[in-house]
Amino acid sequence: MYLRDHVVILRSDPFREHDRRIVMFGESHGLLEAVARGVDRKESKQAGHLLPMMEAEVMIAKGAAFDKLAVARATRSYRTLRTRLGSLAIAGSFLDLFERLQRPGIVDAGSYALLTDLLDIADRLPEEPSIERAKLLFATAAMKLLDRTGFAPQLTRCGLCYDGFREEDVRQLPQDGTIVHEDCYRSVRTAQPNAMLIPHTVRTVARFLRDESLEKALLITGTSQSFAAVSSMVYRFIRQTPLTHEPHGMSTIAVMLG
Ligand SMILES: [Zn+2]
Repeated sequence: MYLRDHVVILRSDPFREHDRRIVMFGESHGLLEAVARGVDRKESKQAGHLLPMMEAEVMIAKGAAFDKLAVARATRSYRTLRTRLGSLAIAGSFLDLFERLQRPGIVDAGSYALLTDLLDIADRLPEEPSIERAKLLFATAAMKLLDRTGFAPQLTRCGLCYDGFREEDVRQLPQDGTIVHEDCYRSVRTAQPNAMLIPHTVRTVARFLRDESLEKALLITGTSQSFAAVSSMVYRFIRQTPLTHEPHGMSTIAVMLG
């Protein structure tokens, strides 16, 4: 039995001699894993079509022990992205986070579109992005991914009293990233000291970016401090999401946002 799909290659790990275990996200099948035979041999024709951050058309043969990648043809290789350190950091961190938040069997064309959208934007950047801009683009994509995977952070109402926020500064609790009123925070301050102050402007920027197209993260104007504050807030949301895979990517994500 064969399965066909458009996929983005998330990861490629060595698997036995000359083989690789490829982790991909398919537009129609979600998270997929298959073994590509012989791609580590010099004469392999498949190897150049199976690099992480490529979009490819694949045919996978279902097997008893493991699925086998029968055919792979790269449809987009995002070449420019690979030549820029900032773009690579954004895309690499996002792929790590993406894999960590997906579960086998969950199909979501919207997540696939978000993934290719991010790769496309990182590939089309006219120049090396500033660190703050790179972090903001990653944080914006991460927020959209959290929304799609059921971990949507609550930015408009208090996690303790459930009343909506007005134009006020709020706090983000260190334990689970929940955002609460300054007044409500006083009741839990002893148990959860050092909650981060989130200025009203930072929450406004985050809400805007969450609702707008991903590209807006490149166009929005603001101070590098406000961009850094949005990124840190999103990083605290990410840290609270349950692990579905070994957190191999958290170190890159921490470098990106922490
Ligand atoms: Zn409250």
